[in-house]
Amino acid sequence: MKMPGSDPKGPRKKRPIPRKAEPVPNDSPSAPAALHKHCNSCGLSIPPDAEYCSDNCRTNFERMVKRKKQLMWLPYIGIILMVLFYILVIRAGS
Ligand SMILES: [Zn+2]
Repeated sequence: MKMPGSDPKGPRKKRPIPRKAEPVPNDSPSAPAALHKHCNSCGLSIPPDAEYCSDNCRTNFERMVKRKKQLMWLPYIGIILMVLFYILVIRAGS
């Protein structure tokens, strides 16, 4: 006689897998994990109360920011020059 009971094709119970809500370690600013910062210029580890690792890096970074600001204006200046040129050409033509 066959014993029905351990049939692998039988109706399986679908158990909802309990998922634990794992505490995600989000780095909040209040966390003491930020024990050090990185130099704004070269990325070296520096104490949290400092901005740059050295005066050299500070000047380097400030120079870079200045140059970036100047480069940011370049396309606008180009457009203005083109518009001026266009106006001059139109005036000269008529
Ligand atoms: Zn540096």
